Amino acid sequence: MAVQQKYPTKPIECWGKLEDLRRRLVKDTYSARERGDMVVLGGPGPLPSLLCGLGGFQLLSPMPIGPDMQDLRLLTKMNELATTQGYGNDCCATLRIALGSMILDRFGMNKRTGEVLKPDIHFESLACQGQMKAQQLYQEYYSQLPSYVVELPWQEEPRQADVDYLESQLHEAVEWLQKTTGREYDDELLAEGWINEWRSRIYFSRIMEHQSAIPAPIDQKTMASFATLMWRGAMHLPEVMEFYKEAADEVAVRAREGIAALATERCRLFHEGPVPWYPSNVLRYFNRYGAVCIGSWLYTTEFGNFNINEDGSWDICPMPEGLGLPLKTRDDILHSMAVVFTAYNPRPKLSARIDNRVAMSRHFKLDGAVFALDRGCLGNTCGAMESIVALKDAGIPVMSYQGACANPSELDQGEIISRIDAFMENLGLEALEEGRPLLQSEV
Ligand code: SF4
Repeated sequence: MAVQQKYPTKPIECWGKLEDLRRRLVKDTYSARERGDMVVLGGPGPLPSLLCGLGGFQLLSPMPIGPDMQDLRLLTKMNELATTQGYGNDCCATLRIALGSMILDRFGMNKRTGEVLKPDIHFESLACQGQMKAQQLYQEYYSQLPSYVVELPWQEEPRQADVDYLESQLHEAVEWLQKTTGREYDDELLAEGWINEWRSRIYFSRIMEHQSAIPAPIDQKTMASFATLMWRGAMHLPEVMEFYKEAADEVAVRAREGIAALATERCRLFHEGPVPWYPSNVLRYFNRYGAVCIGSWLYTTEFGNFNINEDGSWDICPMPEGLGLPLKTRDDILHSMAVVFTAYNPRPKLSARIDNRVAMSRHFKLDGAVFALDRGCLGNTCGAMESIVALKDAGIPVMSYQGACANPSELDQGEIISRIDAFMENLGLEALEEGRPLLQSEV
């Protein structure tokens, strides 16, 4: 079948750097003890830079990642073990695989050497109740770690009370870190880490904003790969900040020069809800129709700092030098953290996410939206049904399927493929090429 290539494409140039950084993070984590670095369980939430004041540290992810995610049989086993402990399919996906991994004595394991790395403390910022419950399980099944969790304010509108609340927690967190670890807290290292984290998040916001260009310069899968450094809590590192700067520049050029993620782009979709964390072709299955998943409210609000305007365009948080806040003392730094995460954070606005999705569908010139309804991730599916109704009312076609972000045995390939095929046909699109199976290996 002759496929019409509408747009030029080219490989992502900073990809090699991303791979190098990812490899280095794993290496640094497992060699932490050799350098006397502290090991901290945490990372996926914002504000890892709070730890920078302590000096050398490495983050151990609170969920099994990397090789464990490639092994679908192992993942299924982890899920089954969680079920035996009373944590069924409707419990947080991260919690279930973390628990399964603990029961198998693999949690924190270096898959290359078999060595199990035990953290010294648990420290993270809380964005979902699932994380909080998981923390209780770490204590019960894994290790009696000293633990501190910063609660990000979940407010509908920016309020001074939320800035004050977050700021007071940050001060308390610094005191807790000093007391618990016995280390001196260096405010210059804190400032350096925070400025890097701030810049990383703004560069990432810019990357995502460029997705409004036609053709989309990158697809959602590439965006998710870029986000892995955020998931590992590495945005405070200067080299990671530099990577995001370079990636933002490259995506800007691609958007300006009309370099496409998909040469045949003729249909643009947001894929809302968690995409499988294990290798899958769900996002790329749409490509056979010339359709490209370019992002989602869920992804963009997780990794960026911005406000969503009524027309769906973004008001991105200024860089540190542009916000007009002093950044000299510890008080200044903690105050600026509180301001950035309350004034430029659409994620906690639970009611607004529905209208945001409708507005963003126009700004990002969407032809439709896809929702993975994942009962293992209530944190991310909340508001999904209301959003589907609002999008349909606004004339945006929507399809949904039952997702299972960390449990491949729950992913019904046949059902999902037939839903996607039917949705595409309803949009008037014929397949341009053969489809691929959604899973690359056996469950
Ligand atoms: S967002 Fe989903 S996977 Fe993450 S902690 Fe919440 S429920 Fe769990």
